[in-house]
Amino acid sequence: VTTWDVEAVRADFPILAQTVHGKPLAYLDNAATTQKPNAVIDAIAHFYRHDNANIHRGVHALAERATIAYEAAREAARRFLNARSANEIVFVRGTTEAINLVAASFGARFQPGDEVIVTAMEHHANIVPWQLVQARTGIVLKVIPMDESGALQTEQLAALITPRTRLVAVTHVSNALGTINPVAELIAIAHQHGVPVLVDGAQAVPHMPVDVQALDADFYCFSGHKLFGPTGIGVLYGKAELLESMPPYQGGGDMIRTVSFEKSTFAPPPQRFEAGTPHIAGAIGLKAAIEYLERLDRLAALRYEQELLAYATERLQTVPGLKIVGTAPEKAAVVSFTIDGIHPHDLGTIVDRYGVAIRVGHHCAMPVMTFFGVPATARASFAFYNTFAEIDQLTDALHRARDLLV
Ligand code: PMP
Repeated sequence: VTTWDVEAVRADFPILAQTVHGKPLAYLDNAATTQKPNAVIDAIAHFYRHDNANIHRGVHALAERATIAYEAAREAARRFLNARSANEIVFVRGTTEAINLVAASFGARFQPGDEVIVTAMEHHANIVPWQLVQARTGIVLKVIPMDESGALQTEQLAALITPRTRLVAVTHVSNALGTINPVAELIAIAHQHGVPVLVDGAQAVPHMPVDVQALDADFYCFSGHKLFGPTGIGVLYGKAELLESMPPYQGGGDMIRTVSFEKSTFAPPPQRFEAGTPHIAGAIGLKAAIEYLERLDRLAALRYEQELLAYATERLQTVPGLKIVGTAPEKAAVVSFTIDGIHPHDLGTIVDRYGVAIRVGHHCAMPVMTFFGVPATARASFAFYNTFAEIDQLTDALHRARDLLV
């Protein structure tokens, strides 16, 4: 029995207390983006009301306050991932930009025939950037397969690694299936062969504590908006010695040491990778989200989400013709499914009429859909503010949809 006080947590998220089409909102689309607690909304409003100025090099009071707040956000992100140094934290727009940064910058050293290994369950954000490198440089993209349950065939990694392997880039948690990958094990295997590992943590950090030193991850990235923070801000963690060895990603203000028309020299990381005015308010909002999470009992939150997952898995199977896509033993609170004879888009539209927000489509993971032989799935994804009653609401709405359409 969990002691999770879901009503107290819900009171922190003002958006949840509304009706949609006359029904209480059941927001079950947390893998797409999460809702924001008052602490985050207030921190952003406070910054724009009192402290807004551009950061770094400003001598006036507001510039100094804004700079301190922005750098305090970097320290909060360091603490959140347990990085050794705040200099290992690069602020980016989100997971997508983080991976593109690594592909463009770390990938600049790749030679034709070099290899990058990903998994069969990657989001497009961890496939397409490597294909762009491939088009430029002629690298080879290799894929660790998964089994019929959507569990990674981890034991296949060692055989895929060759002397030409330059990077293993894997998702921590699959957004389409919910599968939690054994990233510590994958990293240990890659490191035995001297290969660094990038972890896409977009769907992991909202659900579980992550310690980049314990994992020994070389790169780890996530998006603020999936972590109860704002859109447009995210984090790339990189080991100091790796970031220091990498060329700039974009050029501009704030990332240089000296500039002349003949030659420019670059600032050390993380500034080297933060050209231009960053999303200052976003970083401040992300700090508020991290501090909000630090006030919660995160292991209790995880236990509660696992109870929601077990309950949803059981309840959804009462719907005739419903098939769950992704049944790996280790899953985050995500349930992808199809119902025989109903297109997922119709399902999404109908359950919306009952106040239930779910996602339908390929979830930016087309190879996963291809593997399971479906064009799309419906996906309910949970956060620690969701309730068992919302799962009942979803289940009832799916029964209605089936009565209507089959
Ligand atoms: N990776 C995974 C596993 C994701 O779920 C997502 C978002 N759906 C991304 C990467 C991309 O994140 P963003 O759109 O915030 O850059």
